[in-house]
Amino acid sequence: MKYAILIVGTELTQGLKRDGNSSKIALELSKIGLEVSSISTVPDDLLEIKDAIGSLLSKNDLLIMTGGLGPTLDDLTRNALAEYFGQELSLDPKLLEVTEDRYCLLGRKMQEAIKRQAERFSLAEPILPINGTAPGLIADDGKRVTIALPGVPSEMMEMLLGSVSPYLVKRFGLTDSLVILKSTLSGINEVEAEERLSELFDDKSLKVSLIPHQASVEVHLSALISKELTQDFLAAQKERLIRLLGEDLIGFDSKKIETVLGEELKKRGLSLSLAESCTGGLISKRITDVPGSSSFFLGSVVCYSNDVKEEVLGVPKEDLIRFGAVSESVARSMAQGVSKLLSSDIGLSVTGIAGPDGGSKEKPVGLVYIGLSHGDINLVEKSLFPGDRSEIRTKSSEAALRLLRKHLLKA
Ligand code: ATP
Ligand code: MG
Repeated sequence: MKYAILIVGTELTQGLKRDGNSSKIALELSKIGLEVSSISTVPDDLLEIKDAIGSLLSKNDLLIMTGGLGPTLDDLTRNALAEYFGQELSLDPKLLEVTEDRYCLLGRKMQEAIKRQAERFSLAEPILPINGTAPGLIADDGKRVTIALPGVPSEMMEMLLGSVSPYLVKRFGLTDSLVILKSTLSGINEVEAEERLSELFDDKSLKVSLIPHQASVEVHLSALISKELTQDFLAAQKERLIRLLGEDLIGFDSKKIETVLGEELKKRGLSLSLAESCTGGLISKRITDVPGSSSFFLGSVVCYSNDVKEEVLGVPKEDLIRFGAVSESVARSMAQGVSKLLSSDIGLSVTGIAGPDGGSKEKPVGLVYIGLSHGDINLVEKSLFPGDRSEIRTKSSEAALRLLRKHLLKA
């Protein structure tokens, strides 16, 4: 079922404050199977609010509003709703009592103007605040439901979770909830991902979203499922993604490649060292971002100059002169050299041109060699990455981690 969100507040339409309420409402209500059809924002203006209510209720059976329920004269949501439904606003003595109690409990003085918060029209049922002071309102004319919540994000949220969500489940007989399976892909871009996942896009019971990052793509599969079927649904979709994506699937639930790699290395009892040129320590950072990496990661050499490549890692001077620092043979020697220097099982290296300067016709910006040395196995992968300096470095670090993962899956 679809619904509309209406955000009220001049500070929001003027850009002085950013609306944080609509995304929270959208996320929470998606969990009970409700889908947003539109999000609108209007200033604290009676006519504008009333017009927006009319227009949104002509297209939706449910409208959720936030803001404009406070005690000041610019808080006009109550008035706009009363006018729209053609009813009078009047003080509700019971609501006044509750409001006075809340003020007393919070040790705040109950000023005359605050009584406005205890006004309602006959169709509107109050939603009592838990920690705040402003009551929310539910106006249900039998066909359409309008819910007005306070603008203060924490007050809005506690009413949404504590009262509104359970009320909507009952009122609209909602039985299913939204289940989201998140997965991460590496090594393919969003267009390739879309092709590989075409059967998912054809599946009308699923919603598929692709979220591209600099060097990876996240895939979110979602569907409205009853509680009893959730586990079966997740297991079936995981199997499907594994079949369609193979090695390009890194894992589920936003797991990063560095986390998966750490698990693989620990499982196999293998240690790792790194020789980083153009990534300048980025791969080491990513690996050590994961807690527990000290059990397999020994260290790295950031070897920017040829002298360091030669003197610390033992890259042959002839190779540096003959092939240049960005070359297959230097990447190989760097991986072998760092593995020997730090006595690790596996050495991984990166050398490339991150730009913006330093490129040539033969060796353009984005050219990157990644080396891997593991006992007798020596691998070198050549890539040409598009993008600016930051993108090339991110993509290089991802490709190095990917090469290592592919090697471990074969080993
Ligand atoms: P209260 O009854 O608690 O005074 P209200 O319903 O009258 O709340 P407002 O007066 O419009 O709400 O706003 C109260 C505070 O909440 C302000 O600081 C306002 O900027 C903030 N606020 C209102 N709406 C939003 C929103 N959509 N996102 C983030 N902050 C908001
Ligand atoms: Mg306001």
